[in-house]
Amino acid sequence: MNLSEKDQLYNWHPYTQHKTTGLLPAIVKGEGALLWDENGKEFIDAIASWWVNPFGHSNRVIADAIYQQLTTLEHVLFGGFTHNKAVELSEKLLSILPTNQKKFFYSDNGSTAVEVALKGALQYYYNQGQKRTKIIAFEDAFHGDTFGAMAASGITFYTEAFQGSMLEVARIPVPVKGKEEQSLKALTDLVATQEYAAFIFEPLVQGAAGMVMYEAEILDKLIAVCQQNKVFTIADEVMTGFGKTGKTFASDYLVNKPDMMCLSKALTGGTIPMAITTFAQEIFDGFYNDDVNKALFHGHTFTANPTGCAAALASIGLLETQQMQDNISRIHAQHLAFAQKMKDHPKVKTTRVLGVIFALEIKTDSAESYYGNMRMKLYNFFIQNGVILRPVGNIVYILPPYIISTEQLEKVYSIVEQAVEMV
Ligand SMILES: *Cc1c(COP(=O)(O)O)cnc(C)c1O
Repeated sequence: MNLSEKDQLYNWHPYTQHKTTGLLPAIVKGEGALLWDENGKEFIDAIASWWVNPFGHSNRVIADAIYQQLTTLEHVLFGGFTHNKAVELSEKLLSILPTNQKKFFYSDNGSTAVEVALKGALQYYYNQGQKRTKIIAFEDAFHGDTFGAMAASGITFYTEAFQGSMLEVARIPVPVKGKEEQSLKALTDLVATQEYAAFIFEPLVQGAAGMVMYEAEILDKLIAVCQQNKVFTIADEVMTGFGKTGKTFASDYLVNKPDMMCLSKALTGGTIPMAITTFAQEIFDGFYNDDVNKALFHGHTFTANPTGCAAALASIGLLETQQMQDNISRIHAQHLAFAQKMKDHPKVKTTRVLGVIFALEIKTDSAESYYGNMRMKLYNFFIQNGVILRPVGNIVYILPPYIISTEQLEKVYSIVEQAVEMV
């Protein structure tokens, strides 16, 4: 039996109906933007392995930092102790985050980062003795798969089975072009009830929805409405963080800064699972009290794992190099040229570009669902042609690692073009 066959015997994969899914390619090596399977087939990782890996697979700089840390202090509990790497990373974050972000809570993944933000908002009001127990989110949002994060995500067949058991969340329209006023009005009506603790959003780009984009200007207005009504704002930058939008954080495009931010995915350059929820001082102060029962009751065993912190420090170091910033600009320019080329194609409905994110919507007659025929046809075509892309329904998006070469990216475009012709 090869690896793919053994895998099928033992493993349960995410978002996978195993009855209708065949053998999965078994990856045995990665370098830069490339991956190889057990048969030697090469793939271009055009989505940076679910948006986590901007600096390339098996990156030496991060690997060395991890090795150093593993042989100095691999882990220590963060309850009752601290360590140099968490202090160093927090100092680094202070210098690159919006200046209102002052306190950092470590956890393990994007969903836990969101849980901590939601609990931070809800318990803040509980500590004050105020009844603000509900959350506001965008329609079609994605904030993760644990219960709080799932509650804040859009209602789809992903979350339908659990609807009876969730936090109360009100949803407002995404303020895409033409829907700004509708979104603003819906938010204004909700916050007036004073029942809401927080508004959570994916700033400027809704990743899992298919790279749906909206402007910073309207988000600034939505945040202002929340600020006037004491509703905390949570920017879920799990996808957008660390350069994806062309700035370090999507929130860097905003005038009105969020009260909390959720970071994960590219935080450690795609090496060690880690996340951070960042807080404005005011929220921390709502827990700072002589009463021990007002502490934030949340924690994870691997909180602030030193090896993860070392990986994050090395990753942020790479992001800050001129070479990496040049890569981001180059990819952005290449994306714009490709969007220009494809936008009037008879089969293309629309194209979108922000930073290193490119998306293209293919025209469809019917409302084909996420698992529709077109999606499967596209996905299989990409995999056969050695390009890893995961279309969302009729939307094909590219979110490459920043170190992808011009030629590799041109190859990805060429396969996307062929796919558009094919469907
Ligand atoms: C991926 C993602 C999450 C969830 O992160 P996990 O590490 O998969 O739990 C949350 N929010 C956004 C915006 C994401 O893209």
